[in-house]
Amino acid sequence: MKFVDSIQKTAKEAVVGTVCDIIEQNPEKNVDKLFSLAKLLARDEDSKNGIDSVEEMYNEIPSVKEYIQDILINTNKNCSKKLFQNFFSNAIWYGVGKREKWMEKEDTKIPFVLLISPSMRCNLRCTGCYAAKYDKSQGLQFEDVDRIVGQAHDLGIHFMIVLGGEPFFVDYMWDIYEKYSDIQFVPFTNGTLFTEEFGERLEKLGNVMPMFSLEGFEKETDARRGPGVFNKVMEGMDLLKARGIPFGVSSATARNNMDTVTSEEFIDMLIKKGSRMSWYFMYMPVGDKPDVNSMLTPEQRIELGRRTRNIRVTKPYFTIDFFNDAPYVGGCIAGKYYCHINSQGDVEPCIFAHIAVDNAKNKDLIDIFRGSMFRELRARQPYNENMLRPCMMIDNPHVIREVAKVSGAHPTDESAKAMLYDENFQKQLEEYAEAFAPVAEEAWEKDFNREGNIKFAKG
Ligand code: SF4
Repeated sequence: MKFVDSIQKTAKEAVVGTVCDIIEQNPEKNVDKLFSLAKLLARDEDSKNGIDSVEEMYNEIPSVKEYIQDILINTNKNCSKKLFQNFFSNAIWYGVGKREKWMEKEDTKIPFVLLISPSMRCNLRCTGCYAAKYDKSQGLQFEDVDRIVGQAHDLGIHFMIVLGGEPFFVDYMWDIYEKYSDIQFVPFTNGTLFTEEFGERLEKLGNVMPMFSLEGFEKETDARRGPGVFNKVMEGMDLLKARGIPFGVSSATARNNMDTVTSEEFIDMLIKKGSRMSWYFMYMPVGDKPDVNSMLTPEQRIELGRRTRNIRVTKPYFTIDFFNDAPYVGGCIAGKYYCHINSQGDVEPCIFAHIAVDNAKNKDLIDIFRGSMFRELRARQPYNENMLRPCMMIDNPHVIREVAKVSGAHPTDESAKAMLYDENFQKQLEEYAEAFAPVAEEAWEKDFNREGNIKFAKG
């Protein structure tokens, strides 16, 4: 390591150590100090400006202040420190520099976050789950996941989302969480397997923040997932809240539940249960029996974004809308800031885009990131000037076909096969994109003044 790098590393470690000391004692009384220290760690003007904006919101918006204070007071200290060290310090401040070196050296982008589905095994059979079609007898072995996570770690990736199947069904993942204690893991779980023993392990680990899947209250959730699931999730939440383990909620949002999952009643219930954030994922026509008619209508889709943004400034809660927040991250992030490794080892650009060229079981991650599919995607991003129309499948469906063709990517499931080769299905997607375009155009002008994060778009 060069001398300057070494000095910088030591200085950063000292700052991280001070932040951890503050977290250990009385963080809620030292918020201004935490913001100042965070600015010392920020690597560039953009990051500093980002911290300034959060600080401004903290000082000016009562619900933001309440949210941050509540997290600082009520989160388990080990979890708080791990979240800070792994997500903010390792993934953002250290990781960005490490990953950027690949970009400078050879125009190769290392993703910020890696999604991995170790196995498609699950104890539930939810309607429309994209996991339903996969062969449950197969899956990655501990050695595969260990190798992949180890390589990702060495490339500077310190943030990983674990999917499936049910991630807590895979016992060896506990060993992975323990071995890679400087990575922040976020498993998306159906929430039915939580016990006191789970709580104890999560508390001790500190680097695992579960996201519970909920489609709404008991009626909506159980209709999709089966009787009793909602109540099991509620029990799981109580168990984690009692220990101060942070967790969130992920909601698949379709035509029939959009109003429920964005309602004040639902958000207030989640806040009361101790949830810290919600991700909204619009239902996508992929996986088992893809149905374009279950997707949000164009108006609902825009409304979801407006409600999400409104919750962020009126409730002590954080929300992410995977599609409508695209302008903040420069449009589609597939194959650039993130990618997904499925249970067969295929490396897909996105959790919904089931195409792949390479397999991580027999190729190193760095060579996969250098590969044709990642390159072709990046060269086309953003696919649309209007970043409210970011997607290669539902907004610009010609892109996934084109990228698959020129990069040599193959479909990794039946719905992707239909996207690439079934003219009837392609027509339905084209029609959806056409119907959404004028509505998105109006919102792009009105809500975003036609401006998105173009710097991010170019990676
Ligand atoms: S391909 Fe579509 S769903 Fe996937 S990251 Fe891009 S915009 Fe999002």
